[in-house]
Amino acid sequence: MSGTGDVLLELLEGNHSHVEELPDDYFADVQTGQQPNVVSICCSDSRVPQERMWGVDHPGAVFTPSNIGNQVWDEDEGEQIVDGGVLYPIHHAGTDVAAVVGHTGCGAVTAAYQVATGGENPGPQGVDKWVEMLVPVVEEALESDLVDTEADEETVINQLVEYNVDHQAAFLRESEDVPDDVDVYGFVYDFQGVYGNEHGRAYLVNHNGETKPEEIADRIPDEYETATQSLLY
Ligand SMILES: [Zn+2]
Repeated sequence: MSGTGDVLLELLEGNHSHVEELPDDYFADVQTGQQPNVVSICCSDSRVPQERMWGVDHPGAVFTPSNIGNQVWDEDEGEQIVDGGVLYPIHHAGTDVAAVVGHTGCGAVTAAYQVATGGENPGPQGVDKWVEMLVPVVEEALESDLVDTEADEETVINQLVEYNVDHQAAFLRESEDVPDDVDVYGFVYDFQGVYGNEHGRAYLVNHNGETKPEEIADRIPDEYETATQSLLY
């Protein structure tokens, strides 16, 4: 038993329960391939349940690339390109919907905000790379008239989260690697009651480039009117 720590034990036990509980036909439809309906680019934050937030409990439905700050890009020899985790399902698995999913209280956006306002990189280098890719987004946001820089830091961070979602969604829409018929949606997952009182609501903040909640509301069923909100001016 040496080396079998508490967490490892939890993993083994958890997976054992998973195996026991799965219906026999759970993977039947996806034995030989996948055709996920959506690629959902999330922040890796442990408080953001990537499939569960969409009510999904079956395999093959959501392609789930994630990183700190839900960034759709990567850098390759100095060039900013759309990340392979986003492009793979679009080019090779028939996916024609992309969702960029930020979340309230994001640590990556907070770190980028601190760097943009004169603070230190959090380190180590592997973290700094992804924080630094967010810094220009934050700087652009702070110079725009969409963010209230006089507000308390928590409010500013949450506005920056939404701005970043819009920015990432725009990057996808403008990329030649993303076909024009791919729908791009932006969401902010709110587990803190920032947008409203519904913890766990993924607020739709961007619908194929449209960011005004009243315009977005016209594009979705009436019953979801309150699921589109914006913290930006
Ligand atoms: Zn985050």
